[in-house]
Amino acid sequence: MKENPYNRQITRSPNHQMLNHFKTWIKTITFYEILVGMKATLTHLLHYKPITLQYPHEKRTLPDTYRGMLALLRYDDGTEKCVGCDLCEAACPSRVIKVISAEVPDEPTKRFAKEYYMDMTRCLFCGLCVQACPVDALGMTREYEWAVYDKRQLLLNKPQLLAIGDRAFPVREKKLELQHPNVAFFNVAFKHLPPKVS
Ligand code: SF4
Ligand code: SF4
Repeated sequence: MKENPYNRQITRSPNHQMLNHFKTWIKTITFYEILVGMKATLTHLLHYKPITLQYPHEKRTLPDTYRGMLALLRYDDGTEKCVGCDLCEAACPSRVIKVISAEVPDEPTKRFAKEYYMDMTRCLFCGLCVQACPVDALGMTREYEWAVYDKRQLLLNKPQLLAIGDRAFPVREKKLELQHPNVAFFNVAFKHLPPKVS
């Protein structure tokens, strides 16, 4: 009967066996398997680059489209842009904004926000109010460090929102009538009209 080559016992020379024993012994005393297992960890340790930002000593570079704290804006002559139309209040999905508007004294066709409140504890920073404003009176700043201990500090009134706008947008736009002299625009006062009789 012919011998099956797969059943043949492999015979190794004594030298070969000693070499294998020696290799095993070296691996044992050098913790070779553990080192292989730790290879990824050791590679990371040797090429260590910290990715944690050491806030507040280091601050992230914000994208241009970052939507931070809201602000009310002024024109370059210091007058408020807001005409008290309430559109931002209507557009806000979280009912953050409350506008109480009134007529400008002696200018019956002109209105302004007599009072303006924002409850920033409810704000989603969605930007819908900014988009809804017809005169660009609202802006989203890049301010985000608004953590407070008392939530009531986040109920902002008009002077506070204007102050945020003043520091966040030092370069102001010209008045609409100076920007677009031939275009119909909001907030035009017709001083020749008689005042409203109340
Ligand atoms: S950003 Fe959105 S949630 Fe915040 S006040 Fe404006 S519309 Fe409301
Ligand atoms: S939409 Fe603009 S102009 Fe109208 S109340 Fe709001 S901030 Fe003022």
